[in-house]
Amino acid sequence: MIKIEALSAFSDNYIWLLQDAQHKRVAVVDPGDAAPVQAWLQQHHDWTLSDILITHHHNDHVGGVEQLRRETGARVYGPANENIPGRDQALVDGERIEVLGLTLQVFEVPGHTLGHIAFYQPQHHWLFCGDTLFAAGCGRLFEGTPQQMHQSLQRLAALPDDTLIYCAHEYTLSNLRFAKAVEPANREIAERFAQVEAWRQQGQISLPSVLQLERATNPFLRAAQTSVKEMIASREGRVIVSESEVFAALRAWKDRF
Ligand code: ZN
Ligand code: FE
Repeated sequence: MIKIEALSAFSDNYIWLLQDAQHKRVAVVDPGDAAPVQAWLQQHHDWTLSDILITHHHNDHVGGVEQLRRETGARVYGPANENIPGRDQALVDGERIEVLGLTLQVFEVPGHTLGHIAFYQPQHHWLFCGDTLFAAGCGRLFEGTPQQMHQSLQRLAALPDDTLIYCAHEYTLSNLRFAKAVEPANREIAERFAQVEAWRQQGQISLPSVLQLERATNPFLRAAQTSVKEMIASREGRVIVSESEVFAALRAWKDRF
């Protein structure tokens, strides 16, 4: 039995902590800061950090890696196509690794960065996707093209309905504000906005999300929907047929939103 907990870092990052109670060992995903992980380990002094999983090279995801590795001897997994500090094992698409007795499948999902990877757990349907797919949104295109990001998101969107989305930031409410602007008549978006607003007012995390809900409310997974295409056509003043061009227009709009 593996339990997953979110450790908060910086203003809106989450470091996912996977706990194997039987062996008293943990793994973390994207420790941008060592401090929250060190604090957890101090409170659980007989536990060990065995593995560190990295999705991409941005500092808010790798900033704590070298210190944690030095202090614990944890094994560091990261994308082969990026510079990852302290990386022990470089991962490419299709690879499978064993962490805490769990199989994790590696997907290359370029767009936010060119080497960005996601980790998928095929028995429990858990997805650790860094800054690629967010709850109700997606990462900015710092390195890749809209076409690459669209393709990466389409691939993640093809996972099972009940896949739990463990992304790296608490951006859900502002993402839903944009989703409402894209689809003002979408009731599921309005309901989700109200729900997440209530959670955030109570200081609650909005994650993990569920893929089925993302397909219904995340505009970046909805470029094929008539309502989304019509909104983009009215803003652009022309009809766009290609889904990846609709996606590109959505991403550009969100950048200025
Ligand atoms: Zn990033
Ligand atoms: Fe980030």
